[in-house]
Amino acid sequence: RNNNKPALVTGSTSGIGLAIAHTLARGGHPVMLHGLADPQSGARLQREFADSYGVSCGFSDADITTEGGCQQLVAETREALGNTAILVNNAGIQFTAAAHEFPAEQWHRIIAVNLSAAFFLARDVIPDMRAEGWGRVVNVASVHGMVASANKAAYCAAKHGLVGLTKVLALENADSGITANAICPGWVETPLIQPQIDAIASTEGITGDEARARLVGEKQPMPRTTHPEAIGALTLYLCGEFADTLTGATLPVDGGWTAQ
Ligand code: NAD
Repeated sequence: RNNNKPALVTGSTSGIGLAIAHTLARGGHPVMLHGLADPQSGARLQREFADSYGVSCGFSDADITTEGGCQQLVAETREALGNTAILVNNAGIQFTAAAHEFPAEQWHRIIAVNLSAAFFLARDVIPDMRAEGWGRVVNVASVHGMVASANKAAYCAAKHGLVGLTKVLALENADSGITANAICPGWVETPLIQPQIDAIASTEGITGDEARARLVGEKQPMPRTTHPEAIGALTLYLCGEFADTLTGATLPVDGGWTAQ
């Protein structure tokens, strides 16, 4: 059984990453929490995890927009928990505008956090996984790694790139007990989607609940958002004993969005 393997979950101070961290810790994994939180709330979260689940936990607020920030995160994880056996690349950001009006700074930022950080982190932890003969890379991509939507040039480019990176990592490490997979959620109820709900509510003059229903209904046959815990449960499954040969896969959890 693999349930004592240390896991680094990027962007685990909020939303999907936080749910993944809870699920892995509940499953017995030591967890490195990470995200742009102030040190006090980071320390509080770390204590809450250690108390609730009785596993070792660390916290890092490394900004992973740069290669140096990613290296810092790997070093802090090693110090807190030892070598990373499970890497969950979850941290991600969004900005919406038409491609011909997209600010360069937002483009670079999204590519850095949603794509390049996953590469730098994987590059730096895979040698330890290979030495151990066991490892898991779980990339939280998106349906936007499989299909496109208007006004999401950088996000779609980064997420399609992340799906491609996942497949390469799966092939390169198929002989080393390491799997790499991409989870592709549709709409998940987290702070990331709130600005899009607010924008519809204000332009259409409707309530938040009506705006959420409209946003989800535009793309998903199932008119409901996915719970962050569902992504946690799938991640735990990917780290478990029956997912040994599940690698290089693109796994939609999207209420039928990409079935169309
Ligand atoms: P969120 O905004 O709730 O959380 C994002 C996390 O990333 C936070 O912990 C934040 O601190 C961290 N982060 C952002 N920029 C960072 C940086 N520069 N350095 C370090 N940490 C940084 O978002 P979420 O909805 O939970 O999204 C998590 C992942 O799931 C993202 O990759 C997102 O693209 C993907 N996703 C979300 C949805 C959705 O509907 N919410 C759908 C598909 C995919």
